[in-house]
Amino acid sequence: MNTKIVQMREGHIDEVLIQEAGEILKAGGLVAFPTETVYGLGGDALNPLSSKKIYAAKGRPSDNPLIVHIAEFGALAPIVREIPGNAWKLAERFWPGPLTMILYKSDQVPYETTGGLDTVAVRMPGNQIARKLIQAAGGYVAAPSANRSGRPSPTLAKYVAEDLEGRVEMIIDGGDVEIGLESTIIDLTSDRPMVLRPGYITRQDLQDLLPEVEEDSTLMRDDSGQAPKAPGMKYRHYAPKGDLTIVKGTEESVLAYINAQCERKESKKTGVIGTDSTVGRYCADVRKSVGSREDEEAVARELYRILREFDDEDVEVIYTEAFDDSGIGQAIMNRLLKAAGHKIVEVL
Ligand code: AMP
Ligand code: MG
Repeated sequence: MNTKIVQMREGHIDEVLIQEAGEILKAGGLVAFPTETVYGLGGDALNPLSSKKIYAAKGRPSDNPLIVHIAEFGALAPIVREIPGNAWKLAERFWPGPLTMILYKSDQVPYETTGGLDTVAVRMPGNQIARKLIQAAGGYVAAPSANRSGRPSPTLAKYVAEDLEGRVEMIIDGGDVEIGLESTIIDLTSDRPMVLRPGYITRQDLQDLLPEVEEDSTLMRDDSGQAPKAPGMKYRHYAPKGDLTIVKGTEESVLAYINAQCERKESKKTGVIGTDSTVGRYCADVRKSVGSREDEEAVARELYRILREFDDEDVEVIYTEAFDDSGIGQAIMNRLLKAAGHKIVEVL
């Protein structure tokens, strides 16, 4: 398949190209596009064949459900059994934005899209290119992250092309994403609202609105022994090719530990993820900074790009500093823990 790659920016949307992309989706084809979280791999969410194509293009197991993206609140009712009060409240506060809600699905949504579940994940993105595309496609676009399964989610169109060129009809390059981590997921089908995946919208943000919000207990732990709450959660996501270990401790103890490890691994190409104030003191072969530790939004934005760059440079062993796991830091640590297969070392 020949992939057409086009460029546009949120402030300069090319309506003709958006219509063309919408027609591709309506005809059952695939289009990768920018959202504020990460790039998405879109297909018509109400067409079972499109969902099958998404799984094939990503190399994703078909029991890992897709998120349905809508452009306006009015599009929610037809795809769910009912809209509970909490969904109204959350949508009013956080949509459009990086929040995905799980609700009971209506018959409109094929099981191919939900990985066989009776529930559907729905999000209204804020990115204007994404919203225009969803409208042009008829209102419902299933879109997992636009990477091959198991690789870090793409925050730049060049990484989408790296993974999906030849597998999709079109890639819309909309520049850098704003957030850099996937949406927060909240399940509204259990007794109490439950966070299944942390993201830019934090637990505190949600609890400010709905104090009864709970968190899935496996979010920050190794869940390999436990039945996953959502099917997709059992898969190891976001993995760089190199072997990643998180090192937690004081600034000095982390530095000393990582430097000692890098010396011992002389025959391997080593890499380290540090911060602006520490990165120059590491002796790894490849050193990268996520920015200032205090600027969590920047850390979130840089993380996946850095993991990809280690892949590009064939780094074999990677160490990363740990981050404070409150606020947006919880989402950062959740992704790092998954990328590291929960390998974390605590040093005193
Ligand atoms: P993404 O990786 O951003 O494509 O998001 C897909 C993830 O959303 C899946 O791996 C699941 O963890 C979650 N998800 C999607 N649909 C559902 C659902 N119906 N029930 C529970 N979790 C879901
Ligand atoms: Mg993904």
